[in-house]
Amino acid sequence: MDTPFRYFQRQEKIYPKRVWGTFRKVKWAVMALAFAVYYLTPFLRWDRGPHAPDQAVLIDMAGHRLYFFGIEIWPQEVYYLVGILILAAVGLFFLTSLLGRVWCGYLCFQTIWTDLFVWVERIVQGDRAARKKLDDGPWTLQKIRKKALTHAIWLVIGLFTGGAWVLYFNDAPTLVENILHLDVPTDVLAWILALTLSTYVMAGLAREQVCIYMCPYSRFQSAMFDKDTLIIGYDENRGEPRGKYKKSDVPTSCVDCTLCVQVCPMGIDIRDGLQYECIACGLCIDACNTVMDKLHEPRGLIRYDTQHNILARAEGRPENPHILRPRTFWYIGILSLVCAVMVYSLLHRSTLELHALHDRNPLFVLLSDGTLRNGYQIKILNKTHEDRAYALRLDGLPGASLRLEGVGALSPDHLPVFADSVGQFRLFVTAPKPQQGRQNFTFTLTETASGATDTLDSVFLSEK
Ligand code: SF4
Ligand code: SF4
Repeated sequence: MDTPFRYFQRQEKIYPKRVWGTFRKVKWAVMALAFAVYYLTPFLRWDRGPHAPDQAVLIDMAGHRLYFFGIEIWPQEVYYLVGILILAAVGLFFLTSLLGRVWCGYLCFQTIWTDLFVWVERIVQGDRAARKKLDDGPWTLQKIRKKALTHAIWLVIGLFTGGAWVLYFNDAPTLVENILHLDVPTDVLAWILALTLSTYVMAGLAREQVCIYMCPYSRFQSAMFDKDTLIIGYDENRGEPRGKYKKSDVPTSCVDCTLCVQVCPMGIDIRDGLQYECIACGLCIDACNTVMDKLHEPRGLIRYDTQHNILARAEGRPENPHILRPRTFWYIGILSLVCAVMVYSLLHRSTLELHALHDRNPLFVLLSDGTLRNGYQIKILNKTHEDRAYALRLDGLPGASLRLEGVGALSPDHLPVFADSVGQFRLFVTAPKPQQGRQNFTFTLTETASGATDTLDSVFLSEK
């Protein structure tokens, strides 16, 4: 019977073998650093004064703020996030053009968590051969125990992953205390459970399938490669013809031990050439170097290389790596430009901001003395952590006067706004009828204490 599932290839489980070497050590070090940053960052404190949270990195959804050490981003300043995204994207392109898929192999969350999950599996169930044997064998009590233990540890890791993620959206010490007292808000609990499950599925079950089928980056990154990009390369000239090791063989050729295939977390044979599944983790290099060391042969049958070097060696020319290429300068130029713009705008970030929205209905009101009145919704953003007062002035509209809606101590000359908040006022502008049916003018907002100002162009409307 035809089912939609016949269109999908069955996942062949990969059993990466344990390996030790330079690149494995680098991966462990990167993993330790990534976990330290991920789990400890929410607990870093940053003093912003009495009216602001003291968590160094906080996404305050309720307060509509993003805090990153000394930087505070309001919803109106979303362009900073755009800048950060551009920096991240161009930075990734730059890294890829130089070092190939170093992000995939060492830094990507999927790689790091999958590495940890495979390590747990290996600790509980044994190395490659033992895991295969366990999977192929019947369901015994020992198999059930080992499988249950593996999945239980995966779920606990998932729980800690989700538990740490929500700390970035709440005051971390308070939330940890609440969690320990089983007093967790429902939405926080839902996020923790969703992230526990997604970590378990992605890193425990889907693993390399995420990189091959779900991640768009693996598909389009070849556009960032050129012949001087570092890739994982098998030295065919030296390695072929491959064959089982005999003392009489050409000593430096591949002995076809398949260790490089057995350790590969993507289940590929790098001797078949560069493949899009390869995440450039370097584990096959470690494996092959171990074999070469045992045979007392030079290392580097598999190594980080560039297509130019591979070609040069094949043609007997000297290797000539080109790290600095035109695209390198382009990327550096774009990164520098975006960084400079962001640093400049952060250093000159205004602590006040004025917004004015003209009434839609009615556009104007004709008063008994023949003058016109326009209404505006005024918003004043006080981005300081202290209460402030402001004065609003109008330029470019002859004979105009300002009045706030309602009565009381407030006037356009005294508009108080609480610390770190938005003050909203309803304002009427009265003026003689403009000649052309509309008249452009400028609002000027001045902070009374410091004299800082912000201006905003607006319009006064009348009938044509
Ligand atoms: S081929 Fe080598 S570098 Fe590529 S994913 Fe497999 S082990 Fe990692
Ligand atoms: S580990 Fe090295 S020697 Fe062994 S099969 Fe792979 S390339 Fe050949």
